[in-house]
Amino acid sequence: MDLVTINRVAHLHPKLRSEVADIIKDIQSKGVDIRITQGLRTFAEQDALYAQGRTTPGKFVTNAKGGQSWHNFGLAIDFCLLHKDGTISFSITEDMNADKKTDWNNVTDSFKKFGWVYGGDWNVFKDNCHFEKTFEITLQDANSKLKNKQVDSQGYILI
Ligand SMILES: [Zn+2]
Repeated sequence: MDLVTINRVAHLHPKLRSEVADIIKDIQSKGVDIRITQGLRTFAEQDALYAQGRTTPGKFVTNAKGGQSWHNFGLAIDFCLLHKDGTISFSITEDMNADKKTDWNNVTDSFKKFGWVYGGDWNVFKDNCHFEKTFEITLQDANSKLKNKQVDSQGYILI
């Protein structure tokens, strides 16, 4: 894994860290690699993103305020492709490993195999870079766990 990815994985929810490492190994076994561009996002960072394009300059990017994104609980990741020369790519059509399947689909296959939900499958706010794994709890559950201090020593909600 590249350093950015190692750092992002280290801050994911503890239940997902080793699984994401396994998923990346599975992807690499197909001759494809990824960088995790975003994992845990604090409530403050989420609120700042929500303000962007509304009350602060920049492009409109999200409908989620702090507590309304699985990233806020370390249960979601965003990724891009990582080429052998270290460059990154957001192409959903390239096939660098020449297996007649897009590299992007090689990635989505691996995450789905491990039971993750893919943002590219959504009809509303389709998000091709996003995966989440939420253990069948709702965002409401997650927020009340936080409020009721059902968290581990590092502040991750207990699942
Ligand atoms: Zn995301």
